[in-house]
Amino acid sequence: MQPIAHRRTTKQRQIIVEELQNLRYHPTADQLYEIVRKRLPGISLSTVYRNLEILSAEGVIMKMDMAGTQKRFDGTVESHYHIRCVECGRLDDIDMLLACNLDEIARNYCDYSSVTHNLEFSGVCPDCLKRS
Ligand SMILES: [Zn+2]
Ligand SMILES: [Zn+2]
Repeated sequence: MQPIAHRRTTKQRQIIVEELQNLRYHPTADQLYEIVRKRLPGISLSTVYRNLEILSAEGVIMKMDMAGTQKRFDGTVESHYHIRCVECGRLDDIDMLLACNLDEIARNYCDYSSVTHNLEFSGVCPDCLKRS
């Protein structure tokens, strides 16, 4: 038997991961907190923050740290591409094939090994387009 406190933490973490994976977009910790607390009314923002940090350190979720913007979290850890809205900062996945040969090309221009890449597109999201 696990101690009760530990079981509660595990349950909280499970719900955080579930809710994150259900979302089409990639929320900030604050946005995810608003969603998670509907299922866990007692949870605090700092608990959500802490769990998100632990989960991303464990590689269960992905933390996206971009200069000048709030961290966002992603329930998909496999490589994939993103598009960010220049108006509202929303971040979505783009389900397109990975350009695997980009790594190959980059390797020809540097002496690094194990080369991978991250690619982020930008544009105006459908919601912002409607609003304008
Ligand atoms: Zn937008
Ligand atoms: Zn993503």
